[in-house]
Amino acid sequence: PVSVVLFTSDLRLHDHPPLRAALASAAEVVPLFVRDEGIDAAGFAVPNRRAFLADCLRDLDAGLRKRGGRLVVRSGDVVARVCEVVAESGAGAVHMAAGVSGYAQRREERLERALRARGCRLSVHDSVITALAPGAVTPAGSGHFAVFTPYFRRWSGERLRDVLGAPRAVPVPPGVRSEDLPSRADVPGTSPGLAAGGETAGRGRFAAWRRAGLARYGDRHDDLAGDATSRLSPHLHFGTLSPVELVRRAREAGGPGADAFVRQLAWRDFHHQVLAARPAAALADYRPRHDRWRTEESAREEVAAWKEGRTGYPVIDAAMRQLLHEGWMHNRGRLLVASFLTKTLYVDWRVGARHFLDLLVDGDVANNQLNWQWVAGTGTDTRPNRVLNPVAQAGRHDPEGAYVRRWVPELAGLAAPAVHAPWTLPAPERAAYDYPAPVVALSEGLARFKRARGRE
Ligand code: FAD
Repeated sequence: PVSVVLFTSDLRLHDHPPLRAALASAAEVVPLFVRDEGIDAAGFAVPNRRAFLADCLRDLDAGLRKRGGRLVVRSGDVVARVCEVVAESGAGAVHMAAGVSGYAQRREERLERALRARGCRLSVHDSVITALAPGAVTPAGSGHFAVFTPYFRRWSGERLRDVLGAPRAVPVPPGVRSEDLPSRADVPGTSPGLAAGGETAGRGRFAAWRRAGLARYGDRHDDLAGDATSRLSPHLHFGTLSPVELVRRAREAGGPGADAFVRQLAWRDFHHQVLAARPAAALADYRPRHDRWRTEESAREEVAAWKEGRTGYPVIDAAMRQLLHEGWMHNRGRLLVASFLTKTLYVDWRVGARHFLDLLVDGDVANNQLNWQWVAGTGTDTRPNRVLNPVAQAGRHDPEGAYVRRWVPELAGLAAPAVHAPWTLPAPERAAYDYPAPVVALSEGLARFKRARGRE
């Protein structure tokens, strides 16, 4: 018999339960990736992620070829393309990873129905995209956890499945045609500093970081200039690394750094279980707060300054320019720029979330939308009205100013603390720097936010 393995957000050969199950029950498998026109139509196939994806598909194909197989790529409607490949190969089963978004859930339902009508079985596997499946732990009396700490307590107590090795051979039936693999060189408009994709790159990065970064992660992960986080987020987004494997390997290493890293991976699972239970939270407020956000139109100038990294707040501008340059931003930067947009400028979180999704190589519906909601105070933060002060935060997380000087070269001649607040310099000195004045005074922004939330 033949089985199809439909790859989605799990573009790897190591620790891949659907592939393992297909190989255990069929003599031949068709490893299939569909460039889904539904994802393109929704505006998710932006250059940075398309380029990274192209790397992932090429690396997956190379890995399969080493094992006697190859990757089959098709484009179009995912259900139609899977049915086509099932018919061509005579497959009796399709294996895939369970997704969490509303789109992924509908895709599974549509596939299940279409395949059943053809006498083919769909087998959907858990804990491929997340370490623990959404719904694996639930609070008593309701469907999902809305607060991280109790979720994390329960999550930590669960046993994870064993890590699977990569298969030795992947026999693919002859005669199933594939489109040409995409190449990152064919994708225009990518960020110049975009990371390389693919399982080989991901495993290499994790191995190096486990040796050199993990132990000190606990103390250093908020240090903007130190850049001491794993940068594994795009690999987790595309599934070139397995979250189960990362959690298990980190726990084996042990220590406070590993504990802190595992906690961040649990945040990822946490947001995924919220989205799985409430797919509408991708766009609608998880906890409506009667906000009358300013829109992109009503705050056009300020939103443009925010996007382009010229708000006049150096740490905000540094982070926004890192996003433009790398298609990635440090987590502390994300917190600061999101707080600045929603609370200081009082602009709708959806404007910021959309901009992030347009650029982030790890741009992810669950993590992006729900982190934006967390910062905006419409999500799961238990302190929804906290406002991060960018000057105080810069002093704490970029004490020497090295992060700002790296990304805002106009200020390269300034030391801390002035580099974080150039408007405080005496006028003649200030005039030497070609750098904008603040778009809004922090006190003014704070007063507006407090009024809006009825906290005055
Ligand atoms: P590390 O610090 O090394 O953490 C390891 C892994 O844990 C990350 O790769 C990530 O998968 C996970 N993780 C860490 N922090 C979080 C978090 N707060 N929420 C969920 N998962 C987390 N992450 C995305 O993957 N995609 C997004 O689109 C995204 N958008 C964000 C938007 C905002 C406004 C904020 C505040 C955070 C967002 N994050 C997003 C979460 C976090 O900033 C990134 O995962 C992290 O910066 C990636 O860098 P890293 O891999 O070096 O992280």
